[in-house]
Amino acid sequence: MTDSAFSLDNLLFFDQANGRIFLRDYRMLMFSAVAMGLLRKELLDTLGFERARGVVKRFGFAAGLADAQALVARFPEADAAQQMLLGPSLNALEGIASMERIAEKCDVDLQAGRYHVEALWHHSFEAEQQLQVLGAAPAPVCWFLQGYAQGHSTAVAKQKTLVVEHTCRGSGHDDCRFTVDFDANLGPEYDGVRQDFEAQNLSLEFERMHELITSNERKLREKDLQLTQLQAQFISQPDLGFGGMLGTSVQLKRVVQMAQRVAPLDTTVLILGESGTGKELLANGIHQHSARAQGTFYAVNCAVLPVSMQEAELFGYAKGAFTGAQQATAGVFETADGGTLLLDEVGELSASAQTQLLRVLQEGEIKRLGETRIRKVDVRILAATHRDLHEMVIAGDFREDLYYRLDVVSLQLPPLRERENDVLLLADYFKHTFEKRFNKPHCRFSQAAKAALIRYRWPGNVRELRHAMERAVIMAENEMIEVQDLPERLQTAAPEMAAPAAESEKPQAQLSQIENEAERVRHALVLAHGKREKAAQLLQMGRTTLWRKLQQYDIDVERLMLEHS
Ligand code: ZN
Repeated sequence: MTDSAFSLDNLLFFDQANGRIFLRDYRMLMFSAVAMGLLRKELLDTLGFERARGVVKRFGFAAGLADAQALVARFPEADAAQQMLLGPSLNALEGIASMERIAEKCDVDLQAGRYHVEALWHHSFEAEQQLQVLGAAPAPVCWFLQGYAQGHSTAVAKQKTLVVEHTCRGSGHDDCRFTVDFDANLGPEYDGVRQDFEAQNLSLEFERMHELITSNERKLREKDLQLTQLQAQFISQPDLGFGGMLGTSVQLKRVVQMAQRVAPLDTTVLILGESGTGKELLANGIHQHSARAQGTFYAVNCAVLPVSMQEAELFGYAKGAFTGAQQATAGVFETADGGTLLLDEVGELSASAQTQLLRVLQEGEIKRLGETRIRKVDVRILAATHRDLHEMVIAGDFREDLYYRLDVVSLQLPPLRERENDVLLLADYFKHTFEKRFNKPHCRFSQAAKAALIRYRWPGNVRELRHAMERAVIMAENEMIEVQDLPERLQTAAPEMAAPAAESEKPQAQLSQIENEAERVRHALVLAHGKREKAAQLLQMGRTTLWRKLQQYDIDVERLMLEHS
């Protein structure tokens, strides 16, 4: 640099004996350009173009900043304009590149807040290595130089600058031309350049990975479900019906026929039934028999989502929407776009999640939490619950308008105990499934075991039966499943407990022995599993009379059921 008052090369000291190089007392290093070129290649290969650029620029920035501080301390006699040129001089000395300012295009007056430098780098080692090792790049590649110039000028000007390389030999241009400006004087069109220097670059990366993992986890869960269903289809010998729902009882067939009819119509369906009755299978069957079969089937269980996370999980959220929202994340509605979404245990949704859900049903639109932007989604909604939504509406716990939106068609899955001979059919099917899975020989049920299976009331329905069969197959010896191979509660269920004929008389006989009316009402509710209509029948009173009694004795059915669950 001819206009520099300082000739740095005179100040270089090669302490060869001790393996050191100094600029006055500032230790320097010397590398071959090839070594640096290889490092760049490694970064490019492992991180990709943009991330490698960020890393090298930040490295350059740190180097420029450190050099500026060291040079200011060692050349206190230099004024700001001279200091400004020491960095490029050092670059030249280090063999990185030489710089040529285009004087007529420069306008520097630090006091007045003006700082614009336009200049060329000649013989940039980065451009050279790029061409030699990798060939012409899609964008300028003098990253270390840009970072260095930015770190150095920021330190000397004591104000944030921004360096932009506009053309580069490394990307096929005739020269490497760049500008330096005060960052504050440049507009948002340079945000891309600024981003390279953002310290959270790594955490951005982390966030991107996190989002990727989250979406992959979702896909995995979907695949897992599909796999389970496929397995079930392969293993089964009997013809598995709609959605893998096996059974010959009239009660089940009626529901399945309705589901088949409603499947191709793109309408909302409300699936009711006790837990374990196969609501998710039925929903999947509807999806598979609809025009959306090629799209995603996604099931979310609202009961397992913490209330505070319901909206975030369903509708997604913007970064910073709440504490812990470290990155913008899509909700399940966006995941299921173009497909079918099952909202299981929809009765557990909070009031505000209900409001949002109504909006999707009415407008086909969602808003991520903390965003104002409206997103269109095309999702068929199937809802399921084991609760009596109508009663929840009356109690003010569920939006009436939402209830009617969901309840366009409702399908009531029968509990297993009401499905005639399906218990043995399903028991046989699950037994066979687990025999294959555990590589066990084919077993038969003893007569006593069969009787126990039929006798038991199966409060956990098909799911409970499935678990029971898994256990039985594991326990069975001598190719025979005995009653003691069944879960204990099946062994102890008294035969008369579920004898179908006695079913309707027995509870009433029990009830008539309770003198205290409040107690009697409570007991009836427990026997009726919280179903008020059934309880009224057992008590042989009208529904409205039961309502009055509930008020009179201050009976909270919900709590009562919890106490007895
Ligand atoms: Zn360049």
